[in-house]
Amino acid sequence: MDTIVALGTPAGRSAIGVVRLSGPASLSIARSIVGDSNFRPGPSQSVLKSIRSNGSSSILDRALLTFFPAPNSYTGEDVVEISCHGSPVILRQVVDLTLALGARLAGPGEFTLRALGNKKFNLSQAEAIRDLINAQTDAAAQQALRQLMGELSARLEGSQQRLIHTIVQLESAIEFVEDDLPQLRRQEIAEELKDVATDLSRLASTFELGHLLRDGLKVTFAGRPNVGKSSLFNMLLASERAIVTEIPGTTRDTITERISLNGVPVVLTDTAGVRESTDRIEKMGVERTQQAMADADLLVIVIDGSEDLRPEDLRVLSQARPGRDIVALNKSDVPSFDILERSRSSFEARTINVSAVTGVGLETLRAAILGPFGSVDASSAGFLITDARHYDLLVRTRVEIQSSLELLQGGASEELVLVGLHNGLGFLGQITGETTTDEILTEIFATFCIGK
Ligand code: GDP
Repeated sequence: MDTIVALGTPAGRSAIGVVRLSGPASLSIARSIVGDSNFRPGPSQSVLKSIRSNGSSSILDRALLTFFPAPNSYTGEDVVEISCHGSPVILRQVVDLTLALGARLAGPGEFTLRALGNKKFNLSQAEAIRDLINAQTDAAAQQALRQLMGELSARLEGSQQRLIHTIVQLESAIEFVEDDLPQLRRQEIAEELKDVATDLSRLASTFELGHLLRDGLKVTFAGRPNVGKSSLFNMLLASERAIVTEIPGTTRDTITERISLNGVPVVLTDTAGVRESTDRIEKMGVERTQQAMADADLLVIVIDGSEDLRPEDLRVLSQARPGRDIVALNKSDVPSFDILERSRSSFEARTINVSAVTGVGLETLRAAILGPFGSVDASSAGFLITDARHYDLLVRTRVEIQSSLELLQGGASEELVLVGLHNGLGFLGQITGETTTDEILTEIFATFCIGK
């Protein structure tokens, strides 16, 4: 096994920057860079040392070195953490020094992958570490932490044990009994399988909210220019805590901000407005608007309620998905507002009267945004499935159990019934990593950050 190195803290200036080494050569590399062949701090003990370039007398930095001997480290291997001053120049040189001494740059999630290999935790817990780092709201972090503490594996263990118990019963029937299983036993097994399927369905059904918590809800404001999209967008932003102020890659045509609504991360996009144009630049803006509308989980179509509907309004309205998207009839403070108020029943989407000037209707708009995606308050929800991979495997397990159940009830042979149960058990094992293939592991760990 080689020794890997990575920066454990973000690139850029900071008070402290941590370079992390893991592998059998960690301590010898640390000894070389501090120029002390006898250096051996006690377990988890931090020692202040001078770091020197190889063979040079000049000091690169004064740093705190912490040694975590195997197996009591994050990865289960010898780990050395070097806490330097958080200067990108120093950190790069320290990493280069370790590379020159035989370390290799770690790939994404490689430290965690090694920890998994050394059974420090299971796969769903490793994924929880990634999700904890990426969490955008308090509620999402809380869910990741619960998964990290083993809540998902604990929940699955009950189902796994019950499936194994059923499999053993059916297999011993094949081994030892001349005749088929008695009808009564078949019924007991069927009840057991029904229970397991119900438990798994219940767990899988939490994914609707869990997925929102982890990945956020994409909400796009659409409508022709001057109806008040930006005013509403800003008002919603101002009333909520922004999670991240600027998202790279956005252009002047679409502005994206993240807010937290009841603990659900919401990605709000304000678009340039939909209108016909021959201007090349403006056409590009319209294309981006169309893209943002297509990507959205939910559209807030803003209409100026103080004016008659224009053809451009009708074009945007035609894109509304009934039952999901929202029509915000804006400018309810203007006296001529009743022009459109009278025709609101003609809109197929949910319609809300708002005023971006007075703030009337904002609370209703906020509630309506989360409406179709579960009315549960994410911060007080129980344990949730947040990962699409876990959800998919739960559903596949339930389908397998269901088909075994039908075979059992239809009087099929034990061998046939067992096929689905073995498959189901295999799928559950993929969640915790017991039966996960290397290809899938590689795919999962590619989504981790380097240094974790
Ligand atoms: P956008 O082009 O759709 O983003 O529209 P803006 O947010 O830039 O608003 C266009 C104009 O309408 C501005 O002059 C706003 O002050 C005004 N406006 C927006 N919302 C309201 C509202 O609720 N009431 C009134 N009276 N004026 C509004």
